[in-house]
Amino acid sequence: MKTKIDILKMNYFDLENSCLELGFKKFNVKQIYNWLHQKNVDKFEKMTNISKKNIEILNDNFLIPSLKVVEHQISRIDGTEKYLFELHDGKLIETVLMKHKDRNTICVSSQVGCAVRCSFCATGINGFKRDLTLDEILSQIYHIQRELVSKDEKVRNIVFMGMGEPLLNLDNVIESLKILISEEGLNLSKRRITISTSGIIPQIERLIEEDMTVELALSLHAGSNEIRKNIIPINVKYPIEDLMKVLWKYQKTSGRRITFEYILINNLNDTIEEAKKLKELVKDFDCIINIIPYNPVEGLNHERPSRNRIFKFYNYLKDDLRLNVTLRGEKGTDIDGACGQLRQKQKKLKLDVKNGNLEEKIIIKNEKN
Ligand code: SAH
Ligand code: SF4
Repeated sequence: MKTKIDILKMNYFDLENSCLELGFKKFNVKQIYNWLHQKNVDKFEKMTNISKKNIEILNDNFLIPSLKVVEHQISRIDGTEKYLFELHDGKLIETVLMKHKDRNTICVSSQVGCAVRCSFCATGINGFKRDLTLDEILSQIYHIQRELVSKDEKVRNIVFMGMGEPLLNLDNVIESLKILISEEGLNLSKRRITISTSGIIPQIERLIEEDMTVELALSLHAGSNEIRKNIIPINVKYPIEDLMKVLWKYQKTSGRRITFEYILINNLNDTIEEAKKLKELVKDFDCIINIIPYNPVEGLNHERPSRNRIFKFYNYLKDDLRLNVTLRGEKGTDIDGACGQLRQKQKKLKLDVKNGNLEEKIIIKNEKN
């Protein structure tokens, strides 16, 4: 039996080549691409303007891959939805749908695990497993978009802030961006897509070179190399001063406002001294600083500051230093909205099956749900 090609792994050019070889007309290719990437169908049979014969050819040669939903949780607090997907090799990733009025934002994963291994992050705990393929990136969005469309809604924004470092899987991320912004795809503007990164300088350069300057969120988390290098190991290779240079270039070429993410960790980066250093770094940028109180991760040695400390830091940046700053409201706290945490729990569940005490864990889990 011949192996079928995963059709969501193909960009327009590849799809056109394959389809023309199989005898399709050029206008068919456009129709098929549109069904896949704009209407996000999960079966060729749903392509109603494609002939029966051609659908048969598509079924014989291609498959539309889909992700298996292992868990789907909906927050009772704010409606945030969290999906745990299983990939074809059994690996697990998570995707989050955040809802703010009519603005549906999907937070996608780009890798299984992460090689950057920040000291505070659940995704990095076990290091890097593998990159997500193009279809695995797109399928997270298309799965959720199908559910939204069935409720007369649609995705408005996409943020690469799930598991993994998107700039370390840049080939696939760029291919996905090209498809997501294409007219025959979801037709999202670059303004509606954000990449969050720990700061991989050559890859930020590449975004500039390839004119893929979507919104950029830089995970800064400190005002000095002394502190940043202890929590984001890659800072040794790409220190803050070099990062600021490339961000400056990014802003000058794209005209985009930069978001600086700053997770606030107790007694580490939440001091007035660090706030002053932060101001020096960002003062010339058109930027916004997004303060995110740290979400504690089991097994990691960091704490969230008290409410008092959080507001002291935030108010100091806002009122004393006059910076453009927001304090991120928590999303889906009842469903472990923070990066990588649901997957951790699921893994623990599997472990406990081996130890023979799954029952106990499930009860705890149900209580939480
Ligand atoms: N690798 C990219 C994108 C994924 S992480 C990056 O690091 O930017 C997305 C954001 O979640 C980053 O700003 C990251 O620092 C933050 N984050 C990770 N673990 C967190 C936690 N436990 N609590 C709060 N924010 C966290
Ligand atoms: Fe990787 Fe981002 Fe987590 Fe750091 S915070 S380990 S870069 S996913």
